[in-house]
Amino acid sequence: MGDFRRFKRTFDPNSKDSFRVSRSKIDLFTECPRCFYLDLRLGIKRPDFPSFTLNSAVDHLLKKEFDIYRADSTAHPLMKTYGIDAIPYTHPDMEKWRHNFTGVEHFHKKTGLTVFGAVDDIWKDNKTGQLYVVDYKSTSINGDVTLDGEWKVAYKRQVEIYQWLLRSNGFDVSDIAYFVYANGRKDVKAFDGKLEFNICVLPYHGDSRWVDQTLEEMIKTLRSDVIPKAPAVCKYCDYRLAAAKASMAEKANGPKKESAKKSRIPRDGEISKDAKTLF
Ligand code: SF4
Repeated sequence: MGDFRRFKRTFDPNSKDSFRVSRSKIDLFTECPRCFYLDLRLGIKRPDFPSFTLNSAVDHLLKKEFDIYRADSTAHPLMKTYGIDAIPYTHPDMEKWRHNFTGVEHFHKKTGLTVFGAVDDIWKDNKTGQLYVVDYKSTSINGDVTLDGEWKVAYKRQVEIYQWLLRSNGFDVSDIAYFVYANGRKDVKAFDGKLEFNICVLPYHGDSRWVDQTLEEMIKTLRSDVIPKAPAVCKYCDYRLAAAKASMAEKANGPKKESAKKSRIPRDGEISKDAKTLF
């Protein structure tokens, strides 16, 4: 069985040192304070999934492409197409800000947390000098890409955290963020060893005011000795409960014989009712 406990990165309520939290942990807290607590206080992480290397390749190539225009301080053709009067921003810390383990960082005095997050890109408005947070995304869907949909809420939170981080570092940041979206085409005749993409730029009006409040709730949760309650509906919890039930039944009764009647998998409502006794 895999070891999900990683004690290196857990929060110690007695420590005077600042605790580093990535923007993805803020997202985890927003999604489920209980999962956040299990991870950062008890060292029990959700299982990792293999990374999406094709998406990473698209990110990498887009970065390289925008860097060519950054070096010349000129607008990328996409900016012109979408009427964005800006150029890719140049700053000595740009590479650090884009690196996953460093990112843009800010020590939040009120909570003692050090927040960090790696941006994909930053553009600078030619007239106002304001900075735009830019995130590269890739997908493959039929039709136009939009920012609608349940799980794109996380993308919006992501750019809002970057806006908050840059503002906390003293930069003048626009509320507008841009998503550069690469949409893999499925309507071409054949693969021929290459993927073709349609690329669009989607503006998003961010509001990062929620971040401060969320950090305060996060530190309160981390300092507490009480594990937060699970929300009423959670597909991960339902899975864990169903798996735990099956394991406990096997332990109590011994492994079932091949011919024995198959165990019935509990339905959604049944699992949630038993949550308190199992976790
Ligand atoms: S409710 Fe879901 S997300 Fe929260 S702790 Fe349980 S499994 Fe994790």
